[in-house]
Amino acid sequence: MIDTGYEGGFDKSVRKFKAAGLSFTDVKFIFLTHAHDDHAGFLNELAQNTDAPIILHKDGVKRLKAGQNSFDGEFPTKTAFIFGKIMALAGKGEHRFPPVDLYERYLIFENNEQYLKRSGIDAQIIRLPGHTSDSMGLLLCDGKLLCGDAAMYGFPSTGRQTIWIEDKSEFFKSWDTMIKLNPVKIYPSHGRPFAASDLEKYIKSSR
Ligand SMILES: [Zn+2]
Repeated sequence: MIDTGYEGGFDKSVRKFKAAGLSFTDVKFIFLTHAHDDHAGFLNELAQNTDAPIILHKDGVKRLKAGQNSFDGEFPTKTAFIFGKIMALAGKGEHRFPPVDLYERYLIFENNEQYLKRSGIDAQIIRLPGHTSDSMGLLLCDGKLLCGDAAMYGFPSTGRQTIWIEDKSEFFKSWDTMIKLNPVKIYPSHGRPFAASDLEKYIKSSR
């Protein structure tokens, strides 16, 4: 299972699993693309209902423990800025989530650990920092890249940029990484899938 969703979303997730004929005991790994409120909101409940280890980047450990998004960084575009301000006015600007401290369940990714391949899952963990320092994605054996929030396609994104970027230089280096991987398609956590050539199209004007 890749990420969770916002706090309070666990019951909906249970219904979706049931509808798909799955149970949480089928989850072999929980892969966390990064420790943000909309990706780790019900990680505690999920962890309580499965024995699956949690794969996360080492920088995610303290972020999960804090239970709040980091405010280092910036809104990269005007649209993102306005969207962020509206969220704040609606009382959703603190980006808190229930703190997670499940160290004994973690499989820490730092460089090139092959947690999935060792278990027979043909997927490669890809470091994609920039949106956050702990961001990572998954390259599947069929060439699909699940990029988390390293890019996004849909409102309020402009030119495939995510609405928050901690480190702009790292963010676009991660785009270089994704372009080099030459995935058949990129699946962001937010919005529709898109071609890797989109990143090539936008990278020069955005960098
Ligand atoms: Zn995020």
